[in-house]
Amino acid sequence: MNPGAAPSSSDSLRVVTTVPDLRAAVDAARAAGKSIGLVPTMGALHEGHLSLARAAQSECGLTIVTIFVNPTQFGPHEDFNKYPRTRDADLALLALLGVDLVFAPSPDVMYPAGFSTFVDEPAVAKRWEGQCRPGHFRGVTTVVLKLFNQTRADVAFFGHKDYQQSCVVRRMVADLDVPIAIRVCPTVREADGLAMSSRNRYLDTAERQQALAISRSLQRGAECVRQGQRRADIVIADMRAVLTAAGITRIDYVALVEPQTLEPRDTLDGPTIALIAAYVGTTRLIDNHVLRP
Ligand code: AMP
Repeated sequence: MNPGAAPSSSDSLRVVTTVPDLRAAVDAARAAGKSIGLVPTMGALHEGHLSLARAAQSECGLTIVTIFVNPTQFGPHEDFNKYPRTRDADLALLALLGVDLVFAPSPDVMYPAGFSTFVDEPAVAKRWEGQCRPGHFRGVTTVVLKLFNQTRADVAFFGHKDYQQSCVVRRMVADLDVPIAIRVCPTVREADGLAMSSRNRYLDTAERQQALAISRSLQRGAECVRQGQRRADIVIADMRAVLTAAGITRIDYVALVEPQTLEPRDTLDGPTIALIAAYVGTTRLIDNHVLRP
């Protein structure tokens, strides 16, 4: 300890790894009249995650950040094993922020022997990420519902960055009458426009530059709409051209969709979400932008 240092909020960060310890901390906060805010993450924290934690802190009496790299949302050939795990740095960031509680369970705590129940939302989850990553949303909804039940939080905070995920979670909460409010917070970007992502650390210098084409492509889509273009196929072709001109050729989708159902739009006659998923080198990145014709 540096005796001259200003007192830091880090003194208050508590890390729990079991559900009983989590519940005890939540019960104590409730008994003290506090509302509970939940921020689910897979760690490798960046400013996007921290913005969710700040939103939780400003609305709730107790903020819980969960750190769990959820195996059930990764496909067999995806990056579960190499996904960045930066626990010490994550805890230091959350301590600095003054977060109250971190829940960092092991896979055994979340999926003990005999675990067999999954939550499946087949409609909003059907296209885009759901189609490119079979089983992904089943893993997401299952772990998110478990976190909701484990924490019994009042409010949960998600990022617009994973737009389809936020829609699938909202659908699940409505369908299953889960007593929690969902907030979706804006995407936090690097100064040059790249959406922050834990996976950005996979990019080398050249790829980091190439990845900028994704946010540029979304801007191009917005520009087309501003100029009056209403045909989705034309806007999509323009957006794809921005990606390919930058050398991004492995494109999972460029889509213009209705904001709630995520069904593709032919004519851009109302608010529309532009969605992109593409590979930069071997790194798969997603991003999105709201278009308002
Ligand atoms: P992850 O750790 O990638 O599972 O993300 C945890 C939460 O942080 C999800 O709700 C994400 O949508 C959100 N998130 C990730 N990146 C960003 C970002 N750049 N801006 C805002 N929220 C984000």
